[in-house]
Amino acid sequence: MPKVKQPEKEYADYVEHPRFGRTPHVTGLNPESDLLTGKVYVHWHSPPECRIPNTAIAADVSRQAPATLPVTHYYDARRECRDCGRRFIFSAREQKYWYEDLGFPLEADCVRCIICRRKQQGLAGKRERYEELFHLAARTPAQSLEMAECCLSLMEEGIFHRRQTQHVRKLLKEAAVAGDKDSQALQDALRERLNLLERDTKDG
Ligand SMILES: [Zn+2]
Repeated sequence: MPKVKQPEKEYADYVEHPRFGRTPHVTGLNPESDLLTGKVYVHWHSPPECRIPNTAIAADVSRQAPATLPVTHYYDARRECRDCGRRFIFSAREQKYWYEDLGFPLEADCVRCIICRRKQQGLAGKRERYEELFHLAARTPAQSLEMAECCLSLMEEGIFHRRQTQHVRKLLKEAAVAGDKDSQALQDALRERLNLLERDTKDG
């Protein structure tokens, strides 16, 4: 008896995308690239081994960023997250969204799952904000506190070196001058996180 693949089972451990889901979206369309006529061109970032058959959707080439070779069809494609190693689907619908609505160049590929992407975007924002605050000639206590929070988060994720703990303590001292209640609660929470991080560093 031929083995029938059950999509639910096969994709059970795939990362769920809040908008595009976790399992393939079957359209029944299964075109192959035809380089001779150029009428069909499937994205080079999704070779047959990661392409999921019968999931293609047609592209609107006129909406893509200019490219030597436009892509005429997108397929649901299997990916493995660069950061957490979990599998996920870079769906045809998401590709259409990237290349036609967001205007991403066709060179752009999705290498991280949605969870890691969100995490990374959050951290990129923190890093940027940290730099801004760092370059201020003078900081208010609230700004020192915000900077301490950014720095701490970046250390927790291993982006900043853990040597920076002294720096965060100094920022917290600067912030302590303020003395209002909200700020106090945040200061306490940050100190707690800082202590945990220092303990981890000693243990590790
Ligand atoms: Zn991931």
